[in-house]
Amino acid sequence: MRIGNLAGRLIILTDNGALDVARASAGRFGPEPQAIYPQWREFLAWAADVSDAGAELYELESLRAPAPAPRQSFGIGLNYRDHVAESGFAVPDQPSVFTKFPSCLTGPFSDVVLPAGGHTDWEVELVAVIGTTARNVSAADAWSHVAGLTVGQDISERISQLAGSPPQFSLGKSFPGFGPTGPWLVTIDEFANPDDLELGCSVNGDQMQKARTSYLIISVPQLIAKMSAVVTLLPGDIIFTGTPAGVGMGREPQRWLAPGDEIVSYVEGIGELRQRCVAG
Ligand code: ZN
Repeated sequence: MRIGNLAGRLIILTDNGALDVARASAGRFGPEPQAIYPQWREFLAWAADVSDAGAELYELESLRAPAPAPRQSFGIGLNYRDHVAESGFAVPDQPSVFTKFPSCLTGPFSDVVLPAGGHTDWEVELVAVIGTTARNVSAADAWSHVAGLTVGQDISERISQLAGSPPQFSLGKSFPGFGPTGPWLVTIDEFANPDDLELGCSVNGDQMQKARTSYLIISVPQLIAKMSAVVTLLPGDIIFTGTPAGVGMGREPQRWLAPGDEIVSYVEGIGELRQRCVAG
């Protein structure tokens, strides 16, 4: 199943268009996309045999983030070996966890305002959305706590990300508009193997990143196990799981986003994001 956020209302994406969940359920489930995750099991049970008779055509550009206001929004640094190498760091033996503060989150089709004087960079990522509370979860059980997967861009301003000693990543990755996700959430049962999905991104049509999530150093289930040993992962929380090689910082010469650039990001089996860069 695919669910989405159509101009602020929760929808199920069907072959016949968008089914408004609040209307189709006669109010059993509310219209707010973020509110569905604490009711995830009940929602899945109801959605399993809902009719798509009320589905309507919709404008792709009206889609917003499938989990627009998580209580916790995590990013994982240095989680693909080729990206670790281009970054000049050592391979971490524990997840390198930072926050993308939720105020930076936007939807699949958005503008990215480039901070003046900054070095703004792209990072395509698989994003996992938590469906049921995860605390001390084993890797073997981890996928059952995930509502689904979506595409994310962990847009990063490298000067502020790497300033200070030790550097702290969270602020430089949390400027407004630096967390596009979407275009919808795809539930785990839709994937033949959710641990092996191609992902990539292009800038102005030039492919910059291309990899598979099977190359993750710490897989999604392992991340959930390690993170939930410390923090309680809450329904609707999101995890940006790391980016592969090909970011602007790792190129020779380095390349930063400029006004007018268009970033297109995709994950196999999900869909794509489109971001337009504008001057700050
Ligand atoms: Zn990242």
